[in-house]
Amino acid sequence: MDEKSSRKKYSREGLKWAKVARFLALPFRPSRLKVYLAVRRFEDIPIEKLIDDGVQGILLDADGTMGPHHTRLFPESSVQTALKMAERGLKTAIYTNSSEDRFHQFQGIPVVGEARPKPEARGFRQAMKNYLRLDDPGKVCMVGDNFITDGGAVDAGMRFIHVHPVSGNENFFLRASRYLAYRCARFYFPEAFKYN
Ligand SMILES: [Mg+2]
Repeated sequence: MDEKSSRKKYSREGLKWAKVARFLALPFRPSRLKVYLAVRRFEDIPIEKLIDDGVQGILLDADGTMGPHHTRLFPESSVQTALKMAERGLKTAIYTNSSEDRFHQFQGIPVVGEARPKPEARGFRQAMKNYLRLDDPGKVCMVGDNFITDGGAVDAGMRFIHVHPVSGNENFFLRASRYLAYRCARFYFPEAFKYN
């Protein structure tokens, strides 16, 4: 498969049925909104706690989580946090639905390329097996700002860390749907969002 058809096969942004289905189901399926942790900023993630809790691998969303939507320059504090996760021995990879190549700051951290798009459970499993080299989703954390896409990790048996979205210039539909899903999660699990 050439590069172009590979990109086409794994085109991951935009409105996909898996996202719509998950969005529609969320208000009625609170278990799919469960968070392991919720933090204000990506840098607030307590790395040592993750390790103490038996986490071995971590998948990182990029846009809205480690920097503004579609940024080409991530804040140094985010980069350092990601590098520290890897240094502390967590298997770490960036798993984004964006296909752009703009993660050169994250030296040594692989970017998931060949995987189904979030929120498909199969995509999370592919990312775990092929990029973290792990087999047990219970020992993997997805970190992201969006319950619809990143939160699909819960359906794959992973833990989910929700990061309050870094504001950017994402489109209205993305922002509105992400906010509604977030409100659902807060409605069902208010205790998880005590940082506010
Ligand atoms: Mg995001």
